[in-house]
Amino acid sequence: MPEKLCAHCGSPFQPRPQVPSQTFCADPVCQKARRQRWHLEKLQADPDYRENKARSQKAWLERNPDYWRRYRDENPDYAERNRAMQRSPTRQAASKDHPAHGIQTNR
Ligand SMILES: [Zn+2]
Repeated sequence: MPEKLCAHCGSPFQPRPQVPSQTFCADPVCQKARRQRWHLEKLQADPDYRENKARSQKAWLERNPDYWRRYRDENPDYAERNRAMQRSPTRQAASKDHPAHGIQTNR
């Protein structure tokens, strides 16, 4: 069995015959790193896990249906800004700002 280099500490080590794909040496620190990496890969690769997470977020929103309504109530500026954007107030403001246009030249 050829020696391999530990994926964590870089030391050469002898993989066990039962685990030829072993990439971490027997050092407890490296074994801990191996478990952490496994966990990370599981988080990224496991669609069930991701789905669970999305589902629990959805469940949270279902348990807190007033969250967004309360947010808008407590942040009137936010709601007002949203309404103003929909009305597109820039055009109205422009005509209101120049009500005297043309008066002086009408004489
Ligand atoms: Zn190691």
